[in-house]
Amino acid sequence: MPEPDTSFDPHRYRSDFPILGTQVRGNTPLVYLDNAASTQRPRQVIQSLVDMYENKYANVHRGVHWLSDQSTELYEEARGNVQAFIHAAQRHEVIFTSGTTSAINLVAHGWGDRYIHEGDEILLTVMEHHSNIVPWQQLAQRRGCVIQYVPLADDGRLELDRLNQLITDKTRLVAVTAVSNVLGTINPLERIIEASHAAGALVLIDAAQSVPHGAVNVQHWGADFVAFSGHKMLGPTGIGVLYGREQLLDQMDPFLGGGSMIRRVKLDGFESAELPAKFEAGTPPIVSAIGLGAAIDYLQQIGMSAIRQHEQRLVQHAHEVLERVGGVKILGPGVESKTGIVSFVVEGVHGHDVAQLCDRHGVAIRAGHHCAMPLHKRLGITASSRASFYFYNTMEEVDLLGEALVDAKRVMRVKT
Ligand code: PMP
Repeated sequence: MPEPDTSFDPHRYRSDFPILGTQVRGNTPLVYLDNAASTQRPRQVIQSLVDMYENKYANVHRGVHWLSDQSTELYEEARGNVQAFIHAAQRHEVIFTSGTTSAINLVAHGWGDRYIHEGDEILLTVMEHHSNIVPWQQLAQRRGCVIQYVPLADDGRLELDRLNQLITDKTRLVAVTAVSNVLGTINPLERIIEASHAAGALVLIDAAQSVPHGAVNVQHWGADFVAFSGHKMLGPTGIGVLYGREQLLDQMDPFLGGGSMIRRVKLDGFESAELPAKFEAGTPPIVSAIGLGAAIDYLQQIGMSAIRQHEQRLVQHAHEVLERVGGVKILGPGVESKTGIVSFVVEGVHGHDVAQLCDRHGVAIRAGHHCAMPLHKRLGITASSRASFYFYNTMEEVDLLGEALVDAKRVMRVKT
């Protein structure tokens, strides 16, 4: 095994992020540990937005004028950036959406409404984000299909020994998260995809928590659809991606109808445009897509494996710190099987109180069900607290989380 790279210095990058210098309530340095909800943006990304609006903005794909050509070129370049980043075979397999949620809804409508019939099965897992549950439940309401779930083992991993029973000859789609947004569990996608394809089912990967945190190759995965969001990887809000294999995208119906997604419109009907326009009705989030392209440039210059390694060190340290605090139950598997997400329950204190008391120390963490109510039900809890890291977080910030938790326990008079 290669020696871990301990030379990574988050301080090299922190100065690119103006917001990380914020003083909470004017006097406490911000410790931003809510990156699974949304990351912050470096100046390079912010500047790409300013430059676009100040110098290069026009609507795309419509103009015969110079400025529109510039804008269109940059928009399509951003698509090329995404393609290279996730190693898609074709640029037009990258569809810009407003985020993971809209990408999954696009598949549920564009593919599901056409190919799912009564009695068909869709297999999800208990650890899915609501974004990868509700669109399928809505599809089930429309089409009468049946939803099954891969259960969760006590160690925070999926019970994949059950996979071969759960995938039946009726299973049309397996939709699974690459990484749990609560437990941080990294799911063995190759195994899931292989079993699904062997049974003739397609696979959709919710990669919202994986594309930002490590190298992804959609072709190695062999995935049919992959969804992720720009705002979780330094990009602007309102931009996300649906990757789909060309052949599948070609066979799908457009989701939204309107301008740009048509080749021809007559009074009695329309013909869809080619990919990717077919799925990008209306004026797309032009500037946000270009910002996402800039975010990808920034991430690539750091290197995804360096990011992954640094996050692993942070998580390792977080586990140690939380164990030292005492009375803290860490959810999910051991450090080796998770990304930079540490969810936990402080015994005797509600998750919201924990987050509020951490906030007094400037430590921003998340509390609640994290849009994963079925997972929390399975864990026998209604809420948890979540610290989630990115490459700009430091070991000292993890220590500050520990100090905030010690104080939270003191305030709530918890004895351990
Ligand atoms: N899936 C997962 C695993 C997530 O963590 C999130 C965001 N919390 C989503 C889907 C939804 O992403 P968005 O809100 O950007 O559409």
